[in-house]
Amino acid sequence: MRRKLVAGNWKMHGSLEANQQLLGALVEGLRGYDAADVAVCVPAPYLAQTRSMLSGSNVAWGAQNVSKHASGAYTGEISASMLLDFDCRYVLIGHSERRALYGESDHAAAAKFVAASQAGLVPVVCVGETLSERETGVTEAVIARQIEAVLSLAGVAAFSNAVIAYEPVWAIGTGRTATPEQAQQVHAFIRGLIRQHDAAVAEGLVILYGGSVKAANAASLFGQPDIDGGLVGGASLVADEFVAICKAVKS
Ligand code: PEP
Repeated sequence: MRRKLVAGNWKMHGSLEANQQLLGALVEGLRGYDAADVAVCVPAPYLAQTRSMLSGSNVAWGAQNVSKHASGAYTGEISASMLLDFDCRYVLIGHSERRALYGESDHAAAAKFVAASQAGLVPVVCVGETLSERETGVTEAVIARQIEAVLSLAGVAAFSNAVIAYEPVWAIGTGRTATPEQAQQVHAFIRGLIRQHDAAVAEGLVILYGGSVKAANAASLFGQPDIDGGLVGGASLVADEFVAICKAVKS
């Protein structure tokens, strides 16, 4: 039985003061909560604050990006071991904003996945099609290409301690959510892809849905058989909303 996960992606939002309120409210709102794993992926400068506020709570934390290199002359980059210094559990890999705005290729995302995985972080690799890709009927081909790039570099065994987030680009930050049926169809396709390599890994793999998840739509999405929780952007910045999304998971 897969345990569900709800992860927040704060993107480039926050301040010491605002984070204090938000993290404090999450600790309070999720005290005793055990229906799913919960995490927040925060901007790197706030990892120390996040660790100090979330240690001992049932909310884990992580980062939004990682270098494929272990160390060296890579100005501005952050290594997996640096994230581990702050007790990160998760790191987002290949978020569509990184792919679209920073030219991150499938191969670059795969290399970051390998660096994270080998260091002992749980990579959350994001995949998803654009609106024009969906409309031209290439959704599955795009997702397969993105996942196969990781499989060929990392191997299927690495997915036994990794998460895939299906995030249709047209649903991110747009208020337009995939229907539960649309999302389920792609999640089943993703699990089937992994199953072709290893059935046990596929059955244990946590596959999150991301794209305008809110308290109002979370339960119907999370109720689908292959949707194992959510990756939540905008709504993760509002404590009550994020807590309500977590509580939409049926234990
Ligand atoms: C995201 O940033 O991963 C995301 C899903 O954003 P939003 O929930 O705001 O659509």
